[in-house]
Amino acid sequence: VDFDTKVLSGHVDHTVTVRADGAAELALDMRDVAVSGITVNGAAAEYSLAEPYQALGSKLSIQLPPGLKAGDTVAVGISFETSPQASAVQWLPPEQTAGKRHPYLFTQCQAIHARSILPCQDTPGAKFSYGAAVRVPQALRALMSAVPLLQVAQRSKAGTRVYRFKQAVPIPSYLLALAVGNLESRELGPISAVWSEPEMVEAGAYEFAETSKFLDAAEQLAGPYQWGRYDLLLLPPSFPYGGMENPCLTFVTPTLLAGDRSLANVVAHEIAHSWTGDGAIRRRTNAPAGNLVTNATWEHFWLNEGFTVFLERKILGRLYGEQMYQLQASMGWLELQDAVKSFGEGHAFTALVPNLSGGVDPDDAFSSIPYEKGFAFIHYLQELVGGSSAFEPFFKRYVQRFAATPLTSDDFRAFFCDYFKDNAAIAQVDWDTWFYKPGMPPVKNEYDESLGQLAYELAKRRHPRKRQATSSWRMARPFGIAAVPLPPRSLLYRCAAALPYCRMNELYDLDNRHNSEIRSSWFQLCINAGDDSVLPLVKGFLQEQGRMKFLRPLYRALHNSKSVAAKQAALDTYHEHKSTYHPIAGGRRRAPPLSAAVRPACCLICCWRRRTPARPAAALPLLGSTS
Ligand SMILES: [Zn+2]
Repeated sequence: VDFDTKVLSGHVDHTVTVRADGAAELALDMRDVAVSGITVNGAAAEYSLAEPYQALGSKLSIQLPPGLKAGDTVAVGISFETSPQASAVQWLPPEQTAGKRHPYLFTQCQAIHARSILPCQDTPGAKFSYGAAVRVPQALRALMSAVPLLQVAQRSKAGTRVYRFKQAVPIPSYLLALAVGNLESRELGPISAVWSEPEMVEAGAYEFAETSKFLDAAEQLAGPYQWGRYDLLLLPPSFPYGGMENPCLTFVTPTLLAGDRSLANVVAHEIAHSWTGDGAIRRRTNAPAGNLVTNATWEHFWLNEGFTVFLERKILGRLYGEQMYQLQASMGWLELQDAVKSFGEGHAFTALVPNLSGGVDPDDAFSSIPYEKGFAFIHYLQELVGGSSAFEPFFKRYVQRFAATPLTSDDFRAFFCDYFKDNAAIAQVDWDTWFYKPGMPPVKNEYDESLGQLAYELAKRRHPRKRQATSSWRMARPFGIAAVPLPPRSLLYRCAAALPYCRMNELYDLDNRHNSEIRSSWFQLCINAGDDSVLPLVKGFLQEQGRMKFLRPLYRALHNSKSVAAKQAALDTYHEHKSTYHPIAGGRRRAPPLSAAVRPACCLICCWRRRTPARPAAALPLLGSTS
């Protein structure tokens, strides 16, 4: 790992098994990687590189020796260097870290970024175990999505040390992960620790203290934990996601450090992935691994995220009561409505199983649809077959059955229908509409909203003249989301939404809240109401963290605002800080050559213009203004 040149130079040995007699070529995915030599079974091999294709990069074709038979294994060694533009890697200078003294590096390979780190079969359908040795500057520590082999790292060259890792469970390429920085850990439980820079590690240990409880609840629901360790890595603020389920080492954003453990449900989600996320996708059966043109595999992403949200909510239900499951589920339904509205009812990406053929970048289709439409479908099936007592044993069986075998939506359907073949109710399931029709689901789930209901009642009692404004609890939702899993706090925030802004701010000091979910929701409400006095706070928030969940809606709200100052704030803030955002969040990702015509400049703002129509004013909550 060379922080001066921003290059990873390395060597990878792939051990591949021949699937069909006479295989003559191994095709690997690659983007922005320079190959300096390839061997097959120890001898120098011929290889060629195809022209880059859209977001997919280039196909690396390696000649295999003649006469191979199905079942033979072949050792393919590749020496390579990455480019400083590698889309999976973010290189942070010391000033962008908490400690300000050392540089930092982290990778994010989902969806198709592993190919920018090393040539590989970069499809969720091809799984591999791996061993790794990483040489880093002596003052720093390397961590990977694997179990560290030696607690004391070897010194090799002067000024460097080598860390070794082993991942014994086969994983898809998007779960390959590396982080290098000035890192320390604190124990969280028998198999868990939190890692981060020393400046944040105590805060992380406090915030994620419930990790072992989440693990225990998940094991009761889904079966034994298979991965050996479950550690958390608390990243610098530019990490573009809330969390990433890298095996053995979940990556999490420091925007979860609310100081009161109220945002730790993200950890429950990432823990849930240990069972429901890592095997649930397979390439099309007719698409050979490494085929660059038909990376259609992400079409079944809902199986991954829908079941993960389901298990996450089950875990929270076990720990905080069934009503918490119901509250989370009903808020998820509202999030689904928002996402469908934002794309447009007929948009292809609102289908549970979208069509991603023709080189569509899976990142472009990324939204809450697979999460919430997926969850809604699974919850619907649960209620249809007789509720939790009937469905939870099925869920455990499903996890066991597909732990090692990835699946498609049709595989899931076949397994479900077989398991419940004696249950007449399943004849009602309109599979094709659920899977392929864009827009909201064909059936609306009924959830117990009593936790939310209490909040309206409280708000009505406090503010009788604002009764009409509390007729729907939709408007109160942003504050509810932020407060779970602490119901008393969520009630407080939810009733706050019925108040005019200035009164809300007086009562709850929302301008100065530390909780990132509350800040984001509060700022959106103020921007939508045309309150320019909030702009300095919004700019500060957009500058201090790079999580897409907050960047996208806030930039969108600023851009769609009628206020000239708000629009200008979006442009100024983006251009000033884009270099600090992760490539995936729009920082410096190179526009793929062929899509340049539809994406004139690769930045968040223009991507939204292209994709997200302005929300009609009527859809905005009817809240009082600050004046
Ligand atoms: Zn997830």
